[in-house]
Amino acid sequence: METHRKFHEPKLLLATANEAKIRELSHLLTPFGIEPVPASTLGVPEPDETGATFQENSLNKAIFYSKASGMPVLADDSGLCISALDGAPGIFSARWAGPERDYEKACARVQKELEGKDERSARFECALTLAWPDGHTEVFTGTVQGTIIEKAAGTNGFAYDPIFIPEGYSETFAQMGDNEKCIISHRAMALEYLIKNCLTE
Ligand code: IMP
Repeated sequence: METHRKFHEPKLLLATANEAKIRELSHLLTPFGIEPVPASTLGVPEPDETGATFQENSLNKAIFYSKASGMPVLADDSGLCISALDGAPGIFSARWAGPERDYEKACARVQKELEGKDERSARFECALTLAWPDGHTEVFTGTVQGTIIEKAAGTNGFAYDPIFIPEGYSETFAQMGDNEKCIISHRAMALEYLIKNCLTE
């Protein structure tokens, strides 16, 4: 049986500048008595994303921040994979929004590329890496299947949330309350595996 290292530290550096991701992760970590520390408090620039997969990118980020801080780190890499676009934007999800992170533009590109296509299934994927300062890492993944709708709906959440309806629901991620999305998201699923394997005895 695979064994995972247990996490007993009081603080965990969250390797993301995205407020929404910090909210989602913190919501699920605080019941375990872990104090989440945003990476912005370190004042070091984010590393470039050079990996070819969500796993590689999340591993690179976690190791980078763990070396920079000497703290244990939780890093997320995630994105939207659209079936009819061969998995795009995938690891380029943030980059589709340009340097100005304009998600109206990114969602408009999605709609344009899906024009005339009946197949609108998609999934959000997330890879979470827990890295210790001694170099040990644990990686967990989560996926949520769903559909891209033509007309954006909802104002909660972030990025592609207004155009994604998860399977089994009738609302987009952006129409759901924060707590509901936090429980069913790809990030929540990856974190659930992490919690099961590294945070509980
Ligand atoms: P990262 O910060 O490099 O991992 O970029 C992830 C990108 O994927 C985000 O900036 C969004 O574009 C997209 N993404 C990941 N998770 C979500 C989500 O829960 N909702 C909407 N978009 C997401």
